[in-house]
Amino acid sequence: MDKKKNTNREVKKKNRNEVFRYICRNGMVSNPDISYALKLSLPTTTQITKELVERGLVDETGEMESTGGRRAKALAVSEDAGKAVGLDITKNHISLVLTELTGRIVKYERIFLPYAARDDYYLEVNQKIALFLQDGGCDRENILGIGISFPGIMDLEKELVADSHVLGVNDLPFSSVSRFFPYPCHFLNDANAGAYAEGIRSENRNRFFYLSLSNTVGGAVYSDGKLEQGRNFRCGEVGHMTVVPDGKVCYCGKYGCLDAYCAAKCLIDGRVEDFFERLQQGEEEAARLWEEYTSYLAIAVNNIHMVLDCDIVLGGYVGSCMGESVQDIRDKVSKRNTFEEDTSFIRTCRHKTGAAALGASLKVAETFMEQV
Ligand SMILES: [Zn+2]
Repeated sequence: MDKKKNTNREVKKKNRNEVFRYICRNGMVSNPDISYALKLSLPTTTQITKELVERGLVDETGEMESTGGRRAKALAVSEDAGKAVGLDITKNHISLVLTELTGRIVKYERIFLPYAARDDYYLEVNQKIALFLQDGGCDRENILGIGISFPGIMDLEKELVADSHVLGVNDLPFSSVSRFFPYPCHFLNDANAGAYAEGIRSENRNRFFYLSLSNTVGGAVYSDGKLEQGRNFRCGEVGHMTVVPDGKVCYCGKYGCLDAYCAAKCLIDGRVEDFFERLQQGEEEAARLWEEYTSYLAIAVNNIHMVLDCDIVLGGYVGSCMGESVQDIRDKVSKRNTFEEDTSFIRTCRHKTGAAALGASLKVAETFMEQV
């Protein structure tokens, strides 16, 4: 009997989660829309949305356009339901993003603030967040949580940043970071956060590999709403995949890693946008660097594709800025590919700015939806 009760409660919760998520993702909707899309009966749907309205999570915003017959009530996620913050920590900058539960970006900012493993650094980050929210006209009480993206291996079991070469951090407990922020904190690896931003609100449910090409090279496997973590939370760490036996030294101390050939700094020591501008203008040195860069990148992309047989999304600074130049990589992969000629499985990321911060904030939003 108790078991049956529990199951009923679980089904109710699952339905409530799905209805709330549907409303968050689809803007203004009606009970019949939800009922039809989620294959729930109209009375069940109406009961759930009534409850969500009573809890202040959903607003009745008037009536839908009539399609003949009685007009249906229009429902939308409430402004007061809360917003999420994403914080992307990198060596020299922090990026902040404020998003609504709908996924809409309210505000984005990138701030120069070199990382330091000290209290005053986190105190300053917290201050920047407070100012950022103030400028965005958002009350602290309205914040559901903050998603924090780190460039390193995140051990989600032991709850610590296991290793970040870039920041010079080892075994840093999440709690020693979260204690500086007056919000619930969620931690993600930067490539995972980028992959999450790419996948979570997309209609395309197919698995993809997100290749993050920034100051370091990383990656993540995203499949149907989830990130593959791997046994040691290192799934997708392709930056340390060997592309040249005994090649250039990598920051990890080994030789010939992809990172040594395809980090953004291999193209330019500065703004990646400037590099692509020079490439567009036909500058010789830029063309030579791009030729070399894409030769190594094509090896990596082809290898990843051979293992996973899925779309490869090029993200990070380089993926975000390369635009039409993605075709050069497609052409080189095509030459290496044993099986296919069509290389449309290689594409650039959807979110060109602040993808990691966005992914971190969407993680907060999704976690909230799961608890509704
Ligand atoms: Zn390496």
